[in-house]
Amino acid sequence: MNRFRLPYHLLVAEGIFTRVNEVMSDCVPGIGRKKAIIVTDRTLQGLFGDTLSDLRQDFHNSELYLVEEGTFDQAVDLAKYICMHDIAVVIGFGGGMVLDLAKYAAFVSKAVFLCLPTTLSNDSLASPVAVLGTEGQKRKTFQCTIPSSIIVDVNLIMGAPEGQLLAGVGDTISKYTALNDWKLDAAATGNSIDDFAYMISKMAFNSICYNEEKSIKSKSFIKVLTQALVMGGLAMEIAGNSRPSSGAEHLFCHSLEENFADQVYVPHGIAVAMGSVPACIFQKRNIGKLKRLLHEYALPVKPSQWKITEDMFVEAWQLAKKTRPDRYTILDTADLSRTALCEIYSEMEQEF
Ligand SMILES: [Zn+2]
Repeated sequence: MNRFRLPYHLLVAEGIFTRVNEVMSDCVPGIGRKKAIIVTDRTLQGLFGDTLSDLRQDFHNSELYLVEEGTFDQAVDLAKYICMHDIAVVIGFGGGMVLDLAKYAAFVSKAVFLCLPTTLSNDSLASPVAVLGTEGQKRKTFQCTIPSSIIVDVNLIMGAPEGQLLAGVGDTISKYTALNDWKLDAAATGNSIDDFAYMISKMAFNSICYNEEKSIKSKSFIKVLTQALVMGGLAMEIAGNSRPSSGAEHLFCHSLEENFADQVYVPHGIAVAMGSVPACIFQKRNIGKLKRLLHEYALPVKPSQWKITEDMFVEAWQLAKKTRPDRYTILDTADLSRTALCEIYSEMEQEF
């Protein structure tokens, strides 16, 4: 059975970054006196200089570390620095790249990791994995652990670009097909489903699917989206793998990244939401529910909008299985002929 741990805190409040030390002191006594390192990057330092100096005042014994590139090598170098300087607390302040690097460095150095996202673009803020660049520029997913705490300042997220929040919505919507692929895997291969992880991931999807507040910049929506993304991360931690959040739609996203990175860039959450449409058609399920959701949130999932041509679309789907050959999904049995894929492409071009 997989052993998992849960974060001490999930706090979503206004102005919470001035009280991180105080809210953490119940689970890490004397945290404010411990050596801390605040990991961010130069752009964020420029945008959130005041917040960062508040944080540094809150943690008297802290220093700032600026990420230059989200690579495995830099994460290991940072871990070494943390160990050599007896740093006990790592505070990740930023988006996916900064948080993944800080998370991995904290994991290797066994430091407490506090996750302070500046945007909500995917479920990496609470996931037990870090995606880092490796030699040859291919990004690789490394297993680590979920953060000790996730602390979200609503006001700060309200200032994040709308496209980044839409990507977070897209990553959550994609669980619709990911969860079904998990069931198909269990039926075809006999692999078991972790019921509790399945339920939490389904709750994450439902919270976005049946939420009446569709104004993504409202405070109440930001709370719902944070909780949905955190639930997505917890489901992976409990299952001990990414099955609750990742099916054929994620393989399509990986295929775009691996085969067309020099031609197109689609944010992770948007690419997986785009991939969930064909995946849902392959799975022969209720596509109306998925389309309604994508329209309600006005998610930009039209392939040509992201410069994905019909040829790229076909090839990306035909190569998707190869990005994760060990993972059973609907791609193992779907009709991936050019004719079938071209038909889906033109349907998506008309519908979105
Ligand atoms: Zn994802």
